[in-house]
Amino acid sequence: MPVLHQAQDSSRTADDESDARIPPRAHHVYLSPHADDVAFSCLGQIARRQLARPQSSQSDPVEQTLVTVFLSGIGQRRQEDEKAAQILGCQYRCLELPDAPDRPEIRGDLDLFMRFGPQHLGITNEVVSRLLPWLPATAILYAPLGVGGHIDHRITHEAARALAYQRGPSLRLAYYEDLPYALAPYALARRLAALGITSEERASPARERAAYRDWLLSFPHMQRRLPGLRLFMSHVAAHVAVQADGDPGRHRPGFPPRLRPQLVNVTQSVAQRTEVIAAYASQWPLFAASPEALTARFAAYGHALAGPSAEPPDCCERIWFDDGVHGPQST
Ligand SMILES: [Zn+2]
Repeated sequence: MPVLHQAQDSSRTADDESDARIPPRAHHVYLSPHADDVAFSCLGQIARRQLARPQSSQSDPVEQTLVTVFLSGIGQRRQEDEKAAQILGCQYRCLELPDAPDRPEIRGDLDLFMRFGPQHLGITNEVVSRLLPWLPATAILYAPLGVGGHIDHRITHEAARALAYQRGPSLRLAYYEDLPYALAPYALARRLAALGITSEERASPARERAAYRDWLLSFPHMQRRLPGLRLFMSHVAAHVAVQADGDPGRHRPGFPPRLRPQLVNVTQSVAQRTEVIAAYASQWPLFAASPEALTARFAAYGHALAGPSAEPPDCCERIWFDDGVHGPQST
């Protein structure tokens, strides 16, 4: 399982609120490219903050907002999203921007995993413009790291960097590890390498492509296709996604990233995981046979992040603060 042990050694197992650089009453804003991304990747830390509320302030909600960026239409996926936010006890906003397949710059399925480029600046600017007037004065903005190469994840990632730069140091920026994409062998290490962090968890390009192809083939929605077609689709998609994942940071606008990992212990807050995953009834069947099976995969990832510990094992999520987004002198 690709958990990037080398980076883990430099992480602190702590809660993010223990970071002196984060004001105690900062608003936590989670950017979710699609309706399920934050729920899959960050629900432990969101639930943890709710559980940590003092009894005296039960009626005083923790300032946490889930913002879904791309959601075409207002059908089932919107309802699933609202239900998950309700379970997690956080506020909810939806920018209602069109999903990638509904935008003119995306001309086919493979464009979903194309490199971030000039044709995406318009939609990125739209995300920034809609969020900038609304963002709380003091906030931590959580955006996808961009593992897996999906263009909507990359656009959200780049928009978050632009927002942090525009707002200045009162807005701290952190990235979460995109699940389920981070479960694919080498995917996280490949993306981190593009952002300047090298690890030993890499392989030859051919081997990484084959690993990503095999990972794609393991999904139920691929299993339902004809054998020859699913092999071809997985092979081509893996080729494009691996290329997009490894797109070097120097091709991006703005200051070079300075990533600082932090593990968040979410052991006490994983009880809600299956309930939240089950809320996304249109999405979990794409990735697993049941909400419980998907929960188990995410939990295994969290246990591996936590490393050898207590019995039963601890469970962690990892975020990466970008200390370089405000410029080379910022902390
Ligand atoms: Zn997504």
